[in-house]
Amino acid sequence: MPGKITKTDDEWRAELDPEQFRILRQKGTERAFTGAHWRTKTPGVYLCAGCGQELFRSEDKFDSGTGWPSFARPAEQEAVEAHPDHSHGMVRTEVTCSRCGGHLGHVFDDGPASTGLRYCINSASLRLVPKR
Ligand code: FE
Repeated sequence: MPGKITKTDDEWRAELDPEQFRILRQKGTERAFTGAHWRTKTPGVYLCAGCGQELFRSEDKFDSGTGWPSFARPAEQEAVEAHPDHSHGMVRTEVTCSRCGGHLGHVFDDGPASTGLRYCINSASLRLVPKR
């Protein structure tokens, strides 16, 4: 796994679109059922929109009914990091990209039987590379 990426907010702002910056770098959340990938079924891999690290695979994507892309597991466990998140009066587990630290979403323990986990991820944090 390549080394960590560290950039200033100004550098990130120059490369990301405003929605990506708000979500990846300011821990924002896109509105449910509005992102590019909540119902995408295209086979392929989902890369970090910030740094390009492979984060999730279409095989692990499932329809959670939440309006956000949902995955049963990351592509590699090392690709993501989990952090306790007590914001907004809730106790949740934030998920970030292990390479650039970008905010991806949260992981919940109500996922499908294969893992019991539901990685609830913002479309804006992902870039889909369709399988060829
Ligand atoms: Fe990243």
